[in-house]
Amino acid sequence: MDTPAPTDSAAVRRANLSLVLRYVAAHGPCARTEVAAGTGLVHASVTALVADLIERNLVAEVGAASSGGRGRPRRLVSLVPGRVRTTAVHVAWEHSTVMTCDLAGAPGRPCRRPGSGPFGPLETLAEDIASAVDAVGPPEAGVHHGRLVIALSGPVTERAQDSPGPARSASHLARLVADRLPGLPCPVDVVNDAKAAALAEYYALALRGGTVAYVKSDEGVAGALIVDGRVFQGSHGLAGELGHIPVSLDGPVCRCGATGCLTTYISTRAVLEEAGLGNPASPHDTGAALTELGHRLRTGEPLALAALDRAGHALGAALQSLTGVTDPDYVVLGGRLADWLPWLRPGIDARLAPRRGAFPACSPVVTPGTLGADAALHGALAAGREHILADPAAVPKGT
Ligand SMILES: [Zn+2]
Repeated sequence: MDTPAPTDSAAVRRANLSLVLRYVAAHGPCARTEVAAGTGLVHASVTALVADLIERNLVAEVGAASSGGRGRPRRLVSLVPGRVRTTAVHVAWEHSTVMTCDLAGAPGRPCRRPGSGPFGPLETLAEDIASAVDAVGPPEAGVHHGRLVIALSGPVTERAQDSPGPARSASHLARLVADRLPGLPCPVDVVNDAKAAALAEYYALALRGGTVAYVKSDEGVAGALIVDGRVFQGSHGLAGELGHIPVSLDGPVCRCGATGCLTTYISTRAVLEEAGLGNPASPHDTGAALTELGHRLRTGEPLALAALDRAGHALGAALQSLTGVTDPDYVVLGGRLADWLPWLRPGIDARLAPRRGAFPACSPVVTPGTLGADAALHGALAAGREHILADPAAVPKGT
């Protein structure tokens, strides 16, 4: 029998360390015998791996449980959630929001700061993000900073040559932010906010497997596709982006240069204008106009109802196309679409009715997201936490 190469055995050990940490995180406090039974690893391996995790202070002994009169009490181990901090920043149009979480995923309180938005000059964007992270302060002694994850509106690609401008290159922006935070001892990731939000909603709604489409609307419209629990990126990171799907042949001119794009019907600006609530000049004005729109919808004001009905039909047409191409089980509506769904639904249903008639068992369930404006932050935090669960050896020993 071949002896595994050193690199292979090191990789196997790291994978097993992850297996044990995930088990303890999900089931602890638990005894080593339970970990062995739950992971399929032999008891001696579990003992060594738990000892390793204890040295990294990722798990700790937390007492003993009776063995039911047979032998010694079983010593229990549990996760040390506060050992690792993940930080996430969501750069939206109106503001940047920063939030942290521990290894158990318990989030801190979100902290919002005014920002210049996701599409400003690259250096300004990096400055905004760095100052948001600085505002949270460094972790306390003994806390390992695992990851900074930045969720950004608009397309995010890994390779600079795929991006419409250098600001959209994930690695370029990550490097600029890291340069401005010399005291930050952890990797920096940049992800698309709709994709992060989609994954967060997928888990929050306890959806499992299959294909799930996600659409959100704020200043722009964005979306994502989740296939078997993973975000489907497409060739250039743009899969699931619905904003510029045409929903009419002669509709309004879009900023992309085309006509009749979905975003010209369901973006915040489009809906407010259609409802007669003007063209807000600032995020504060937008917030006030949205509050007024909500009031008018609840009181049945005709212009507000007509604006949402028009948006519902446009969204339904886009979902008709999306459903034909991707055949999803669920369509999750996030951002303001979740709040507006009661008034959007008649238009959506009218557009999807023919398909539901033809394929009654194969039409997607359209459902609101539950995480609101912070969905992208939750998704970014989950992505950062996942890095530690996947590779606990990234956390140093003895501190
Ligand atoms: Zn467009």
